[in-house]
Amino acid sequence: MPMPCRLASRGNEPDTVVRAASARFGDGAFALIGGPCSIESEEQIRRIAAAVGQAGAAMLRGGAWKTRTSPYDFQGLGDAAVDLIAAAAAETALPVVVEALCEAHVARLARSVAMIQIGARNMQNVELLRCAGRSGLPVLLKRGPSATLDELLLAAEYLLLEGCRGVVLCERGIRGFDPSTRNVLDLGGALRLKELTHLPVIVDPSHATGRRSLIEPLVLAAAAAGLDGAIVEVHPHPDAALSDAAQAIDCPTFARIARGAARVLATLTYELSA
Ligand code: PEP
Ligand code: MN
Repeated sequence: MPMPCRLASRGNEPDTVVRAASARFGDGAFALIGGPCSIESEEQIRRIAAAVGQAGAAMLRGGAWKTRTSPYDFQGLGDAAVDLIAAAAAETALPVVVEALCEAHVARLARSVAMIQIGARNMQNVELLRCAGRSGLPVLLKRGPSATLDELLLAAEYLLLEGCRGVVLCERGIRGFDPSTRNVLDLGGALRLKELTHLPVIVDPSHATGRRSLIEPLVLAAAAAGLDGAIVEVHPHPDAALSDAAQAIDCPTFARIARGAARVLATLTYELSA
């Protein structure tokens, strides 16, 4: 690695297990996070929480403040959404992850969620990283669409230097030349990251591809590759989602993916122990 990461680099470290309430990343299991791109209503988030919890998800996701490319698109319900997802999670005992866009959001979330997400567009917002690192919560750090692996690891280093409780890295697609998929899921890069760092690495096939038909095979591929988990956008009526509808999957599909990932993992474990 050209740039030194004193805390994030693999060195001789075994895999670090990151805990977010009852969720575990990097313990050899495959942790699935499911939930809507945007929290839209009490009914929507309660239905999704019940469905992903029943499917065996490790965590519930949901966007409260959205980083939409266009200012004319739905921007999220804001603070009210945090209350809605916290209430839905309390009913299902699922830990929650929500993205923070600024320091005020970190302070708001520190009271209500189990993990803070730093989004792709903010991967190098160093003041936000420092603030999230000091929050007392673990952080889900997404790779910027044009960031190298070294840049992602140095962003993680900002968090760890502040004493961050734990960092989970997320490959969410990098910018390619072909608009056939929204981004390019860099599975090789995610595997290379596991060599470079002891931190857990998960994938986000939703934002990587922008297409719901590709979510299931890519989650299974990530599980088969030995990555630590996946984060997936789920909606009870995917076509009606207020943001990222084309990549949202429905609740039964999420449950099938969870069963499939468990089968892949059981096969791998059998092969390793045979
Ligand atoms: C999200 O997860 O809701 C999101 C906006 O993702 P990204 O930061 O990867 O674009
Ligand atoms: Mn989204």
